[in-house]
Amino acid sequence: MNKAVFLDRDGVINKDGHYIYKIEDFIFNEGIFELLKFFLEKNFILIVITNQAGIAKGFFTEEDFLKLNNWMLKEFSSRFIEIKKVYYSPYHPEALIEKYKKESFDRKPNPGMILKAKEEFSIDLSRSILIGDKESDILAGENAGIKKNILIKSEYNISSSHTKYIFSSILDLFNNLTSKINILTE
Ligand SMILES: [Mg+2]
Repeated sequence: MNKAVFLDRDGVINKDGHYIYKIEDFIFNEGIFELLKFFLEKNFILIVITNQAGIAKGFFTEEDFLKLNNWMLKEFSSRFIEIKKVYYSPYHPEALIEKYKKESFDRKPNPGMILKAKEEFSIDLSRSILIGDKESDILAGENAGIKKNILIKSEYNISSSHTKYIFSSILDLFNNLTSKINILTE
């Protein structure tokens, strides 16, 4: 069985600029490459799970998303960082575009994307970690049975959180991962 790090995209991998879909607007968060290399060295596999309601709302197309996604994966692989798979949910209950209008088990806080990855890559969720910047990410992790759900502080989570693992930024997480908390072994 594999252990995985589940990564939200906007606000975790890149700076969240609200419905990012253009390469020129996609800015990697400081420390993200170092953080992911650290996890790879500890034998975690990397999985991205991202809600992309901008598709449902007509702000950009699924094709736009995939184009940016391919570019992102190339940026990672040029730094020897392998992302096993990117799962995305284009659905939203109040979508403007009819084919994306539904309550989806894949849309976080539901655990659908995590459970699909678990099957596809034989992941032991009890040894896995999730990193998100919204409470819906943390809840998706909890709903899937992940114990170590890390919240990166953002404008979306000013109130209290379910999780005890809270960091001010990706760089803060990287700098304190092994000293402040022993998230890998506790
Ligand atoms: Mg996010």
